[in-house]
Amino acid sequence: MDYGMVNNMEEEIIIDEDITEKTSDWNEGDVGKRIMKRVTANGTYYNELIVQVFCQFCGAEFIGPSREAGGFLGGHECLHAWEVSQALGREDGLVE
Ligand SMILES: [Zn+2]
Repeated sequence: MDYGMVNNMEEEIIIDEDITEKTSDWNEGDVGKRIMKRVTANGTYYNELIVQVFCQFCGAEFIGPSREAGGFLGGHECLHAWEVSQALGREDGLVE
């Protein structure tokens, strides 16, 4: 059996052969699979892993391509940082 490329370095890279044909509507069953090709308005994404992430501040969850997961986390982080700054502003009486 051919397991493909095996990385014997300290950092093990697991080659996941699971591929999904879905380009939307991913769920928990798709986590860990790869999207071979995903065409968006911004560009075409290849070999993207589907991941499951959640926001540690509000508990919102996301399942989808790595790129979008990063945007989800960044977007939430940005929003919650804004909320904190607003709350601090009020406590300090520094509301504009
Ligand atoms: Zn959040």
